[in-house]
Amino acid sequence: MADLAGTARPGSTSPTDPTREWVPARVLATRRETARATTFRLDLGRPSGHRAGQHVKVRVTPPGGSPTSRSYSIASAPDGGSVIELTVERLDGGVVSGHLHDRVHPGATVSVRGPKGTFTWGGTTPALLVGGGSGLVPLMAMLRLARRTGQSGLVRLVASARAPGDLFYRDELVGPEVSVIHTRAAGSLVRQAGRLTVDDLAPLFLPGATAFVCGSKGFAGAARDLLLGLGVPAERIRVEAFGPTATAEVAPAPGTPATVLG
Ligand SMILES: Cc1cc2nc3c(=O)[nH]c(=O)nc-3n(C[C@H](O)[C@H](O)[C@H](O)COP(=O)(O)OP(=O)(O)OC[C@H]3O[C@@H](n4cnc5c(N)ncnc54)[C@H](O)[C@@H]3O)c2cc1C
Repeated sequence: MADLAGTARPGSTSPTDPTREWVPARVLATRRETARATTFRLDLGRPSGHRAGQHVKVRVTPPGGSPTSRSYSIASAPDGGSVIELTVERLDGGVVSGHLHDRVHPGATVSVRGPKGTFTWGGTTPALLVGGGSGLVPLMAMLRLARRTGQSGLVRLVASARAPGDLFYRDELVGPEVSVIHTRAAGSLVRQAGRLTVDDLAPLFLPGATAFVCGSKGFAGAARDLLLGLGVPAERIRVEAFGPTATAEVAPAPGTPATVLG
């Protein structure tokens, strides 16, 4: 809050904070990730200022409808520029995801506010990233940051998808720091299809690492429980859950930092 002289108090958010304003973001390009997911490359017209793992709000006005906003994680790594990438999965009957897929093409403009969120990795400490479905999006920003800064050795990523055709960023999900699991149809002979298990996670938790878990409420809760079962301290498990309702929340385990929601 600002005082009467208009000076922001320490720790408060300035009323002129650009991340609190809706800005028109131009769609530079779109890229199909899967049959149901598309990446939108947006120019905010000002530095994004985001940290890996944060999200923005996107507001659209469907024909005959009213302005409606939803949260979308930023998939691109922070680079000081004004361009960000969001990957949006189309949900059946989904107001905003459907509008973005059907009506928002390169050259269009959408309103964006943010970034926000404390589900962030700074890029300098060990991290285990565990993502299911579209929960992979904020973790991709972290993986991309690690790769861009030559810190891949700090990161292990486990990406869970139903089948090979459902995996986002397929071409980038190769390398010694990445494991892919399929829950319904296996894409490789290395691992049979099936849900995430302790055996998938155990070899990947680096000493001193923080785990970042993101996915549906069910996936995030299950992954967190597996990590706790492995002996990972609760305060080293960060969880962000999102899904059909945009308000899904995973109750944090005792001592777990607050779950971040949009
Ligand atoms: C922090 C955060 C980050 C996120 N990041 C991403 C991301 O990177 N990518 C991504 O794809 N999503 C992300 N999400 C989810 C996103 O915000 C939306 O929730 C999602 O896109 C659905 O919005 P929608 O408007 O399309 O669907 P909605 O219109 O909200 O509907 C959601 C679903 O509920 C069903 N539904 C709606 N109303 C009813 C009803 N009355 N009864 C029964 N069913 C109903 C719809 O059919 C649809 O399937 C994130 C969410 C959060 C909180």
